[in-house]
Amino acid sequence: AKRKRIGYSRYDSSENIYSKERLTLVGDLIDALENDQFELHYQPQVAAENGRICGAEALLRWQHKEHGYVPPDKIIEMAERLGIIHKLSLYVLRKAIAECRRWHQLGSDVSVSVNLSVRDLANEQLCAKIREYLNEFALDYRYLTVEITESVMMENLALSLGQLKKLNKLGINISIDDFGTGFSSLAYLKRLPVNELKIDKSFIMEIDEDENDQQIVSSTINLGHSLGLKVVAEGVETQQVMDMIKDFGCDQIQGYFISKPLPAKAFRQLLKNASRNVS
Ligand code: C2E
Ligand code: MG
Ligand code: MG
Ligand code: MG
Repeated sequence: AKRKRIGYSRYDSSENIYSKERLTLVGDLIDALENDQFELHYQPQVAAENGRICGAEALLRWQHKEHGYVPPDKIIEMAERLGIIHKLSLYVLRKAIAECRRWHQLGSDVSVSVNLSVRDLANEQLCAKIREYLNEFALDYRYLTVEITESVMMENLALSLGQLKKLNKLGINISIDDFGTGFSSLAYLKRLPVNELKIDKSFIMEIDEDENDQQIVSSTINLGHSLGLKVVAEGVETQQVMDMIKDFGCDQIQGYFISKPLPAKAFRQLLKNASRNVS
């Protein structure tokens, strides 16, 4: 029989968590973390007003020697179960901050966005570690954004709030990821120390063909702006969608239409080419 491609299978409760495949993955995950075998890919974010790259989202990548590509959601879920999520997230933060420093050394002032699991907000060392890495690589706080998914943030609001306030006080930007998939009330949004809303790609991808999506997205952009927040759209795949989102006043665009997430080296090359085109 053909072997199931574990990389693309969704984990569900019927899957045997003690399966042989899963046990190898789990063991290798710990090894990969110890031996720096994860990669980060970087997906550019451009400013709607001039199309210039202003940021990049760091996305975790792991190529397993037998099972091939393991999607990041799956890695995160395993790391949470194993109790090593704090360690993994700090690893990602340090790697992304180090890479952002290299962009700056190339003369660019692009910022980096890192996804955090809501469990990371329970890590009492989080702020201190972020400070340590920013100091180590001499990067200013304003070049770091942390993205936290809306649905999980709302489930853990009490836990999140204190930690988010601490991060925000340092000058780190906070973005609500997958915005529109959770249930933030306006009252919460006002109270949360956030700087950015990132509209979930499910509202963006087919917006040119769906009037409901158009209503949702244009009112979300207005809501964000009226609260003084930057609004980012993810999942922009076509020119039509890009034009429509820009028309609605969205501040930043991210999606395959601009670029897929790129290996670190390719992203640096993109930055070099972009600066050559400007000057
Ligand atoms: P996310 O943070 O919402 O990231 C955006 C996802 O959409 C990425 O998937 C990206 O590759 C994909 N994407 C970007 N543009 C387009 C587009 O135009 N069309 C389509 N169809 N997709 C697009 P990816 O890399 O598979 O990551 C999935 C999720 O895994 C992320 O969703 C994030 O929640 C999580 N994740 C990734 N890296 C990390 C990490 O280092 N730490 C944590 N905690 N979570 C991570
Ligand atoms: Mg994200
Ligand atoms: Mg998202
Ligand atoms: Mg997501």
